[in-house]
Amino acid sequence: MLIENVSLLCSGQLIKGRDIQIRDTRIARIGKDLRKERGEEVIDGQSKLAIPGLLNCHTHLAMTLLRGYADDMELIPWLHDKIWPLEAKLTKEDVYWGAKLGCLEQIRMGITCYNDMYYFTDETARATKEMGLRAFLSGVVFDMRPDLLVETEPFIKRWTGDELITPAVGPHAVYTCSEETLLKAKEIADKYDTLIHIHVSETREEVDGLNLSKGMSPVEYLDRLGMLNERLVAVHCVWLSLEDAYLLAERKANVVDCTVSNLKLSSGIAPLNYLLEAGVNVCLGTDGPSSNNNLNLFEEMKVTAIVQKNAYHTPAAFSAEQIWSIATEGAYKTFGLDMGLQEGALADLALIDLERPWLCPQSNMISHLVYSMTGGVDTTIVNGKVLMRNGIIPGEKEILEKAQERFERLTA
Ligand SMILES: [Zn+2]
Repeated sequence: MLIENVSLLCSGQLIKGRDIQIRDTRIARIGKDLRKERGEEVIDGQSKLAIPGLLNCHTHLAMTLLRGYADDMELIPWLHDKIWPLEAKLTKEDVYWGAKLGCLEQIRMGITCYNDMYYFTDETARATKEMGLRAFLSGVVFDMRPDLLVETEPFIKRWTGDELITPAVGPHAVYTCSEETLLKAKEIADKYDTLIHIHVSETREEVDGLNLSKGMSPVEYLDRLGMLNERLVAVHCVWLSLEDAYLLAERKANVVDCTVSNLKLSSGIAPLNYLLEAGVNVCLGTDGPSSNNNLNLFEEMKVTAIVQKNAYHTPAAFSAEQIWSIATEGAYKTFGLDMGLQEGALADLALIDLERPWLCPQSNMISHLVYSMTGGVDTTIVNGKVLMRNGIIPGEKEILEKAQERFERLTA
């Protein structure tokens, strides 16, 4: 495949008139006037900006079905009174169509890979494969449903080696999993060398609760259980001490910041300044679409930047360049993905229509991507395959209809 005459960002500068050649699943060459092979598929890149595909580093994708269902509540009553009772009624079919709807939205937003934790993980995997996205998937594990832990290992065995799906282990949080469950989750992750995906220190109640019961913070507790390492994906980390941040850095654990979800649930603001100062690898996620309520990483970047500026009372903090780097490089590092617009990298990328008012004048494009982007992803490519072209995704109408049906059944 050859993307002709496209614009790129090179050290933040807009460079026009380049070609990107994709061979199989990788970017083979980037240059000027590359020779077209006979019969090669050509994409016109005129007036388009190519960016590496975005990574949504934390979500519960099938919760697209619960979008707008329970707003304006705090985390614990939101989970207990609204989300968990409805999730108890979820079927495989619901998760399959909810995940398809989430894939659809992510493709439209230029997201090429996501990290998920939910129920009926095989259904999410099947939906994701059909839509062509890349994903790290963990079945959620907590004590109230012992069957979920039992399902973890067979799921990993089924999906290990798949070219798009990477299985992981997903203990929900320290307040929903006993020490025994956490240790079992760790044992499985160690055995199969997978990531551990867990919510950590999301609310003040969680941290206070663990301090009361164990006399330590969630981060210290996970460290005591031997779970803090470069395979840990610690989501939220809102209520952290400076010691927690240094411990996460020392153990090379990764943190996913989900600013919009944390703000919407009024959980707090993650201390990104001292996480970064301590040297922790940070990346961004939207969280589930019922606490965000969308899957838009451009919005996540903007809100993160402006909230952090306000938290530290200086507009100079968290520049567009820094946020862009967290959203891209931080994510590649967390998931060990060979990404970016360079030769040899995975052919996971998006083309953005430059002829949109919010991208004009074409000056500081990183600033536009972080602060002004409100749409216009035109083409999304994953693993060398085109998933959306000129804004068209095959099968979109059916997915919207089925998702609507599933929502109506769930809430009937
Ligand atoms: Zn979450």
